[in-house]
Amino acid sequence: MAQVPSSVLGFPRMGKLRDLKKATEAYWADKITREQLLEEGVRLRKEHWQIQQAAGVDIIPSNDFSFYDQVLDHHQLFGTVPELYSTTEPKLHPLDEFFAMGRGHQKNGVDVPALEMVKWFDSNYHYVKPVLKKDQEFKLSQAPKPVAEFNEAKALGITTRPVLLGPVSFLHLAKNAHGESFERVSLVEKLANVYKELLDQLKAAGATDVQIDEPILVYDLPQNVKDAFKAAYEIVGKSDLKITVATYFGDIVHNIEVLQHLQKVHAVHIDLVRNPEQLNQVIEKLGPKQVLSAGVVDGRNIWKTNFKAAIDKVEAAIQKLGKDRVVVATSSSLLHVPHTLESEKKLDPEVRDWFSFAVEKAKEVAVIAKAINNGPASVAAELEANAKSVQSRATSKRTNDPKVKARQEGVTEAMHNRQSPFTTRIAEQTKSIKLPLFPTTTIGSFPQTQQIRVQRNKFTKGEITAEEYEKFIENEIQEVVKLQEELDLDVLVHGEPERNDMVQYFGERLDGYVFTTHAWVQSYGSRCVRPPIIVGDISRPAPMTVKESKYAVSISKKPMKGMLTGPITCLRWSFPRDDVHQSVQAQQLALALRDEVVDLETAGVKVIQVDEPALREGLPLRTGSARDAYIKWAVNAFKLSTAGVQDGTQVHSHFCYSEFQDFFHAIAALDADVLSIENSKSDAKLLQVFTNEEYPRHIGPGVYDIHSPRVPSEEEIKERIEQMLEHLKPEQLWVNPDCGLKTRTTEQVKAQLTSMVNAAKFFRQKY
Ligand code: GLN
Ligand code: ZN
Repeated sequence: MAQVPSSVLGFPRMGKLRDLKKATEAYWADKITREQLLEEGVRLRKEHWQIQQAAGVDIIPSNDFSFYDQVLDHHQLFGTVPELYSTTEPKLHPLDEFFAMGRGHQKNGVDVPALEMVKWFDSNYHYVKPVLKKDQEFKLSQAPKPVAEFNEAKALGITTRPVLLGPVSFLHLAKNAHGESFERVSLVEKLANVYKELLDQLKAAGATDVQIDEPILVYDLPQNVKDAFKAAYEIVGKSDLKITVATYFGDIVHNIEVLQHLQKVHAVHIDLVRNPEQLNQVIEKLGPKQVLSAGVVDGRNIWKTNFKAAIDKVEAAIQKLGKDRVVVATSSSLLHVPHTLESEKKLDPEVRDWFSFAVEKAKEVAVIAKAINNGPASVAAELEANAKSVQSRATSKRTNDPKVKARQEGVTEAMHNRQSPFTTRIAEQTKSIKLPLFPTTTIGSFPQTQQIRVQRNKFTKGEITAEEYEKFIENEIQEVVKLQEELDLDVLVHGEPERNDMVQYFGERLDGYVFTTHAWVQSYGSRCVRPPIIVGDISRPAPMTVKESKYAVSISKKPMKGMLTGPITCLRWSFPRDDVHQSVQAQQLALALRDEVVDLETAGVKVIQVDEPALREGLPLRTGSARDAYIKWAVNAFKLSTAGVQDGTQVHSHFCYSEFQDFFHAIAALDADVLSIENSKSDAKLLQVFTNEEYPRHIGPGVYDIHSPRVPSEEEIKERIEQMLEHLKPEQLWVNPDCGLKTRTTEQVKAQLTSMVNAAKFFRQKY
């Protein structure tokens, strides 16, 4: 009887306690040797393979490990490392060359910047963009990493399925070397030959299978990129290995014709968590013997899989294809979920039972396969426990709050709009908030000093009382306010000393959220984030920021800006629920924030900023109806959160990016009175967009980069402002940094803001 195997597409590499982060950072700081770091890699890989083996996973990945980024690994694998890194003097060890590309290198006379890093599809993982030349040659590295890691697992008695990023995705996700104009897919044949060579080596080492990821199939693709699959897989498909081409984070129906170029591959993997509806169309296009790898265990979120629903999906595929042509798999690599639920000792048992992290998800694929192969009775206990957990979550009071639902039903169209149009509002605001031309402000946070962290820790641990902590925070606010008055800024902030993180802080004060202690996921390189989890309907039991803002208002005569994180950013930087649409969760967050905004106004805060740095990253991967729908509900959430105020209250919003070309209308639709946006690269294109569209409201394009300790001169900032004035009217323009100042020191902030305020004053004189 044919058996349906279980498969994991990739495993998180940080380890149980962010071991890899600790080891790489120790290596960078010269605290451990290269050998020690390499050994830690060996240990982690072994542990992760054995976890999956013990879970009963049939197809276990290798080469999913990386010391920095799996896309960057391919740069060395194919011999395409840019000369800047390969020809340093003195020459770097390959491991250091690798890190140099990922994060730059400044040591022993070598000084090279990092390569560009960008978001991995719509996840919070970031990959390093490979750089390719027009006349690029490819050459397989000596002792290729995928072969070495395959052998390493084999020595442990585990035959793995190596994972590679596919040739077409590699080319598409890379970028052209500076100043070169050419179609990267023109390199596809040369590159495919190197893949073929690699697959032959894997075969010789004893591999039977290989997973080749072509996630770009979920994007809209130009014709030449689609055609490149033909050229690539004619060559790669000659390998004797059984190839599984994997796609994830979307459907591939719009690129379905590409499947005809993949007829030589053994299997196609699709994401049936995100897009279950693609199943039948993909099955129809499979070749007569081709296998479907059914991604039914969510690799992007932390929810326990609903076994019944997952088994139904797999059974639907088996109905059409037969058992010998179906694999049960995770929807994507598990890279995007935390390591194990085991580490969460503080979670309420009720909600803990709803979650599943990487270790648990590996068990889930195995259980689903077993249920299908040996019948439900073979895993009766697991299925029963799962059904109970699913039921508990669906009916829990924590999930469903009738008061929140009732409030959502009462939301009207009018609640999304301010009382009057901008011209009326700004006239009111000019009366209520006295501001000079070219008003200066900051984005919210001031330096988060060591002292702040120490006090916060003490408070969390109960070593100081709430009163003591409050007093400490008030002192911090006083200092920051005093500093801003001395610097002569116009709209002040309280400095956000009480906030650990811009999303966590709000999540901790909202019903419907829970927090973990160890649930870290890799964001880029050694950096990990620990997103809070939205478990149920969200509401605000009490004001969240009013106390601090009110205090700040009370100690200064200058206008004080209240600071909130917007609904979309709260949603995007959390693990969202998977049982209600994200638009519903965004609206709940918006309603909670709306109350906060109104409370701030009542407390005398006349300027309120709602940050939405994650608004753009939520944009669906493809153009069309899904994108339009997102823009509509995301913009509505922002408007709902801010529109409850009087005309005389000024609403600001902030964005940490400047790619507005295809996103301008969404930003404009927010109807914020003032926007502050990143503009450290002094992007004339950004400013041009605002002119072209005759944007009527106020804008503060950042006048200097806060990521650098460098102090910009007054002259430099004047030049920036001059440039801005070519596109924006003087009465529209605000003068502010690019983003919050929390990563800087007070000394740097003083110097930087002095230049900024002086530059603003210069123009005030002039106009
Ligand atoms: N108000 C926040 C701060 O200043 C904004 C941070 C952000 O945009 N990422 O820190
Ligand atoms: Zn920012």
